[in-house]
Amino acid sequence: MSVPLPHDLLVIDDPRYREHEAPTGHPECKERLLAVRRAFDAFADSLAFARPQEASVEAILRVHGREHIEQVERACRAGQSQLDADTYLSSRSFEIARLACGGAIQMAHAIAAGSARTGFAVVRPPGHHAEAARAMGFCLFNNIAVAVRSLQAEAGVERILVVDWDVHHGNGTQHSFEDDPGVLFLSTHQFPFYPGTGDFSERGVAAGEGATINIPLPAGCGDAEYKGALARIAIPAALAFRPEIILVSCGFDAHRADPLAAMQISAEGFGAMTRLLRALADDVCGGRIGFVLEGGYAPASLYEGTTALLQGLLGAEPPPPAEAIVKGSVLARVVDRVRAVHASRYPEIGRA
Ligand SMILES: [Zn+2]
Repeated sequence: MSVPLPHDLLVIDDPRYREHEAPTGHPECKERLLAVRRAFDAFADSLAFARPQEASVEAILRVHGREHIEQVERACRAGQSQLDADTYLSSRSFEIARLACGGAIQMAHAIAAGSARTGFAVVRPPGHHAEAARAMGFCLFNNIAVAVRSLQAEAGVERILVVDWDVHHGNGTQHSFEDDPGVLFLSTHQFPFYPGTGDFSERGVAAGEGATINIPLPAGCGDAEYKGALARIAIPAALAFRPEIILVSCGFDAHRADPLAAMQISAEGFGAMTRLLRALADDVCGGRIGFVLEGGYAPASLYEGTTALLQGLLGAEPPPPAEAIVKGSVLARVVDRVRAVHASRYPEIGRA
């Protein structure tokens, strides 16, 4: 087992991320970042911190229409406070949303170039619900999608795996890449639930058909189902896809303490999931894997999730061994449904 080098985990962090100011009582608030940062203390010697730059409008235009970008800017300047029932703005939100894209871009490029082995971009506002033409679900611009497009355009990366383990389906990310065979988008999410997309049958379109894998899970799932979904579905598919880099939409809102959803992942579960993906990255792409913060709305879910993530990335503990699938279990049914949709392209799904 290799001992990680010092400073091989790049954390993208910036106090300006606090300047996207939530209305009173909104769950996507700046205090979320305090819980994440508290977890850094125990790992300080192994972390390299960097401040991002705002993404250029040109970089954001690879994912979003100019009209949407200009609408966000205009709404901020005009003092408008809401774009939809969930998604708010404050006076600095346009700059901070660009900074969130910039953070994801900077981490992704550092990992692709080998200047960081792995990374965690602690950005807000989150991004994975943002669609090409509209903000949605607390998200203004789709940070991870903009980073993927930047890797394709500026680093020549051709095969990118995006794993979205936020408890909500990453509708905006899926739609950004649904016709792109170079991006395998793979999502675990509570279903049915907000935003309503992410059923088994959504598997990509045109040239991208088969490069979208949805793993909808019923409320109440926890460590066993999530570990099993990664081990039996995500990892076999990724081994066949052979990405050059893995980016993770890293929400911690499937944690059992989280108030917005009804999943039951423990801190140990997030650690095991991290080690599964770290080992996958070691197997297929030289360990190149980066995490972009999405949701997570309880201090405990953010603190425990971040601690587990950093332990999983920096520690030497191996990934958990595959567990037998219990016949008739939720996991067995989900694996069967995913295999039915994807077996022609990924016959390995279901094996561990
Ligand atoms: Zn979420």
